[in-house]
Amino acid sequence: MIPSRPALEAAHFVDRLERLVRASEAADDLNPAQWEALRYFVRANRFSRTPAALADYLVSTRGTISRTLTSLEAKGYLRRGPSSRDGRSIECFLTAKATKALSRDPLTALARDIEAACGEDTPALAEGLRSTLLTAIARNGGRAFGACFTCRHFRADVRPDRSAPHHCGLLDEPLSQVESQAICVEQESQAV
Ligand code: SF4
Repeated sequence: MIPSRPALEAAHFVDRLERLVRASEAADDLNPAQWEALRYFVRANRFSRTPAALADYLVSTRGTISRTLTSLEAKGYLRRGPSSRDGRSIECFLTAKATKALSRDPLTALARDIEAACGEDTPALAEGLRSTLLTAIARNGGRAFGACFTCRHFRADVRPDRSAPHHCGLLDEPLSQVESQAICVEQESQAV
């Protein structure tokens, strides 16, 4: 099927916006791959802060991800250590320097531009792009990495613990309100 002219234009706009963000990133101490790793780890839940999950998220190889993490560690943005969950796998922890860097993330400027241009249509735009992304991921056989509260294994408000009122039915783990908003390597859409 040949896409409509507006659809094709929208695809070109996404491509150009992506290039503009990459150009802004070049002015910083971090290269695009390093920015992407920081953005992933600040959004990922505690089951997903592993090098393997990052490789899946970025559709990259383990070797490339390992080099990115080594550079981030050497620059003081990241620390690798035993997983707080099982102690066997490696977990990545962002440092205070990374948190500070993320506060000047060029992607935030793009988000402001989107809000200024789209106003109250911003949620509809975000939903359209999310749906587009899921279609592209499905075509390529990747993982969705959606937000926890949208997962079919998410059980809302089923625990008496106010600090972790939710529950993961797949991993049998409690979930806090903050974790319910995080992205997860195991997330599966409720519609599946
Ligand atoms: S409910 Fe789904 S998204 Fe949330 S932690 Fe469990 S598997 Fe991950």
